Amino acid sequence: MNGKSIPAEYGCGVALKADLTSTDLAEIRQSALGAADPLGVAAELVSAVDAGRLSDPDDAGLALVLAAEIAESRSKLDAALRYVERALDAYDKRDDSPVAAARALRARILFRAGREDEAVAELEPLRPVLTQYPDAPAYVTVALAVGGRARLAEEWLTGAVEEVLAEREGPAPTSAEDAGLLFFLLQQRHRIRHTLGRSHDAHDVLAERLETKLANANARTAAEATDDLVFWPKAEFDQLVERWPALTETYGADWDEHRARLERELVRRSGPDLVLVPGTVAGLEAAGDPADPQTRASYVSNSTEHINWPPERNAPCWCGSGIKYKKCCLPRSRG
Ligand SMILES: [Zn+2]
Ligand SMILES: [Zn+2]
Repeated sequence: MNGKSIPAEYGCGVALKADLTSTDLAEIRQSALGAADPLGVAAELVSAVDAGRLSDPDDAGLALVLAAEIAESRSKLDAALRYVERALDAYDKRDDSPVAAARALRARILFRAGREDEAVAELEPLRPVLTQYPDAPAYVTVALAVGGRARLAEEWLTGAVEEVLAEREGPAPTSAEDAGLLFFLLQQRHRIRHTLGRSHDAHDVLAERLETKLANANARTAAEATDDLVFWPKAEFDQLVERWPALTETYGADWDEHRARLERELVRRSGPDLVLVPGTVAGLEAAGDPADPQTRASYVSNSTEHINWPPERNAPCWCGSGIKYKKCCLPRSRG
């Protein structure tokens, strides 16, 4: 490992350091495409691999895949192909989903480069992984779609759906979790069939039912997560629970419990930049039906007011009681 430091900051919020950890790579994946100089990031990733500057040498394949994706996004197809082929060498004898994903990426780049036969030859052997890895339906379908092979994708996905259904015992799945890998197959198939203008068949009906259920469950979770951080000042709290008594379940039986719940939730999250959103009954009513969690979620997320948390121990408490934090809500988190 050489000790040379790389001072470069590529404007993606990630300064490439002497040693790149797996976490660094994950951050680069999030931010590289919006970076000021993405190709610089790609080149730096490759040179980190070449110079042995990865904290975990097993990350070489991932770093090279990232470099290939960046180069592909900038239409540097020769470089992208070189990087993804080096990634496949680095993965060596592994046989798992990241390797299959890298092969699908190679096929996608070949399609873009007009080398269609080679692209299809790369994808053909991936057909069996559609029923093995949950993320395979997505990367295989994307590669085929980039190559204008939506019909082939439909055919492969239909075959995979039928294979999984034939092996599955019992009634049709009732949730995405219950469906497992089948859900991802149904979902990709449903999408590609929409792009082909097909009308719904029984598999699409099932796909749509599972997708709707999952979307509703996610909306509920998001609504509950934001609800956790609304703070109702004393007078607002009293008015709120008098008019909608069921909301004591969400916000606490009385104002003390409301404050205690918030304090505990904030301690549990304990990240930087935590804020509470002060609520008013009038504001909430203007947003819609207060009994609907989604009304409350959109009210909270549209609010521009916030209270920073935590205050200094000796500063006035965030709840507005006028008492020092250390004597007011701080101890409530332990109650
Ligand atoms: Zn549909
Ligand atoms: Zn307080």
